[in-house]
Amino acid sequence: MEFSSAPSTIMHLDLNSCFASVEQQANPTLRGRPIAVAAYATPNGCILAASIEAKKLGIKTGFRVKDAKILCPDLIVLPPDAPKYRFIHHQFQKLLDHYSPNVIPKSIDEFVIDFHHSHYSNLFDVGHQIKTKIKQNIGDYLTVSVGLGPNRFLAKVASNLKKPDGLEEICQRNYLAVYSKLNLIDLHGINTRLNARLGSRQIYTVLDFLNSDISQLRSAFHSIASYYWYLRLRGYEIDDVDFGRKSFGHMYSLPQKFTHSQDLAPILHRLVSKMGYRLRSHGYQSRGLYLGLLYADHSGWHHHKLFSKYFFADADLYRYAFRLLQSSPQQLPIANIAISCFDLIANNAVQLDLFSAVSRNLNLSQALDSLNKRYGASIVNYADFSTHIPDRIGFGNLDRLTDD
Ligand SMILES: [Mg+2]
Repeated sequence: MEFSSAPSTIMHLDLNSCFASVEQQANPTLRGRPIAVAAYATPNGCILAASIEAKKLGIKTGFRVKDAKILCPDLIVLPPDAPKYRFIHHQFQKLLDHYSPNVIPKSIDEFVIDFHHSHYSNLFDVGHQIKTKIKQNIGDYLTVSVGLGPNRFLAKVASNLKKPDGLEEICQRNYLAVYSKLNLIDLHGINTRLNARLGSRQIYTVLDFLNSDISQLRSAFHSIASYYWYLRLRGYEIDDVDFGRKSFGHMYSLPQKFTHSQDLAPILHRLVSKMGYRLRSHGYQSRGLYLGLLYADHSGWHHHKLFSKYFFADADLYRYAFRLLQSSPQQLPIANIAISCFDLIANNAVQLDLFSAVSRNLNLSQALDSLNKRYGASIVNYADFSTHIPDRIGFGNLDRLTDD
């Protein structure tokens, strides 16, 4: 799959050294000096934010006050002042709301704007304008790093490329150059644990990561996260779906290139059954469904839907998934199909009337699951499913289904 040719319509904005800069904004005698905001000003207190001047001396978020003072004995340490930071956050949001109805706060000092359907022709100009407006309307000591990219992930990475006061883009034109200068750990979402796990699969650099095929990534992540990373690194959007803390998903690389949803039905059914089994065996119900297709021509399509009711039975999961599949472009040969369910709720968090239809349905699903567990996957199934399966595709062909 090639890198997305989509324009950089996502903007990520990050207020530099937020807490410390806001303190310097409020108190001019602190400007130009190394200061830090710490949870406690005591020697073991943890530094929450270091001013740009303090960062230049090597002081970082997470340092203890006593260690920071070794690097800078004159460091001014302040306690956090949440109302002040919240006030700036609201000012920042109000300013951004003038540019787009699609402003999403990500944290107290970070915002994402989706300029997908906007009339702006040059988002660099917009970025410069926002920087100027922040200085004019919010505070002249505040700087912001802005990142542009075709998806949320790359816009965020771009915002980290130059601090403070950056305005950078990652796109089809420069992604290889940018990736070659980054470490895996610089990527948002790759922590030291994942970094080590990728290393154990001979993925040491961002370019190694990019050049890994889905099966290599799968062996590193053991989850549908491999598919998400595959898309992210190529500029496709996956992070506009709020999967919540937990999701269950599966994907499958097709040995033949199917074109029509009817031909894909048995594969979809098998993926849905595996997903439904895991959803139920973990004691969850789901309200969101995601379907992603990678086409043989290296393009991609994906769609997700949040439903009003929670569901857990294969029949519901399959019906909704098939509906999503039917809304996809039908002419292109498909190389890979991925499905996941998200926005989960634990069964025990749902008040179930013991004799209700929903409760009976859950009992039935669980009974089928235990039979399938005992006698092998899919020994028992809903009758509807088999009628969807064309004769020419036996389940024997689907052995390569993964356990993502
Ligand atoms: Mg920040």
